Amino acid sequence: MKLLTIMIPVYNEEECINKLYLQLDKVSKLLTCKCEFLFINDGSFDKTLELIVKIQQSDSRISIVDLSRNYGKEIAMTAGLDYMKGDTLVIIDADLQDNPELLPIMVKEIENGYDDVYAQRTSRKGESWLKKTTSFLFYRILAIMSSVPIQKDTGDFRMLSFKAIQALRRLGENERNMKGLFSFIGFKKKAIYYERNERIAGKTKWNYFKLINLAIRGITAFSMKPLRIISVTGLIISLASFAFLLKVVIKAIFFGDPVAGYPSMMSAILLLGGLQLLSIGVLGEYLGIVFSETKKRPIYFVNDYINSNSEKNPDV
Ligand code: UDP
Ligand code: MG
Repeated sequence: MKLLTIMIPVYNEEECINKLYLQLDKVSKLLTCKCEFLFINDGSFDKTLELIVKIQQSDSRISIVDLSRNYGKEIAMTAGLDYMKGDTLVIIDADLQDNPELLPIMVKEIENGYDDVYAQRTSRKGESWLKKTTSFLFYRILAIMSSVPIQKDTGDFRMLSFKAIQALRRLGENERNMKGLFSFIGFKKKAIYYERNERIAGKTKWNYFKLINLAIRGITAFSMKPLRIISVTGLIISLASFAFLLKVVIKAIFFGDPVAGYPSMMSAILLLGGLQLLSIGVLGEYLGIVFSETKKRPIYFVNDYINSNSEKNPDV
């Protein structure tokens, strides 16, 4: 390992930057390799960028990719993959929820020949019961629905070898779910365990709307199971209703039973109507992805790339 890129996506993290830098600086001294601190400013509108630029003036290891607006963490990480200079990468949150003290252990595992050393949470501090439960369900549902194995209770905090980085760079899809992509590329993976800390300052950028979006994207990008489920449900309902129809006809013809049952008719109609809308919705999700991918828009735009050698990236 020659150069380790420590990638930090940041979005309105002014309260965390200085503490984060102090921690990273401390840990980097324990490492034998050189480090690059690559901050991806994901359209922050507070003092985040100013603070990083200020630290950069006294520390040449820092590079900054300033994105043109807020794209979300998944895309910020993609930009980081394109701009990083190291031969090994670690992705870490700005709020110090991912403990930087794990870096030396991760480096050791990479040197042992692993390609993806991911940190798995054994517990989470300071997060609400609701967040913990939804997160628990999120990983389980994703694992059931998805066609690639998804590591449970694992965020984006992981160290990747050069092979894994190269593989990730080749994935050009617009609708990105990094958790799925990390699994998709394969290679030798190794879990290390840690207790997730509380955020040191500021607020989480996540809300339930974004989380649901991430979950749906995660499922639709990696699996066609929902489509299969629709077809199978349709088949079962058709068969069942055909059997029911036969029963009603036979009863009416041979036993002179009058056909009654407004309530049962209503519930059948409503159930089918609901199922049809749901199925159209699922189809729509897939169609939406096709729409988004066919536009072939660039995934992100960069406002500025600031690096210590004051060399500009030719793309900017
Ligand atoms: N983040 C980002 N863009 C966004 C939202 C978040 O780059 O649109 C960054 C954020 O600054 C932090 C990391 O992603 O460094 C994780 O975000 P957060 O702590 O809000 O998520 P949580 O830990 O609550 O899942
Ligand atoms: Mg966090």
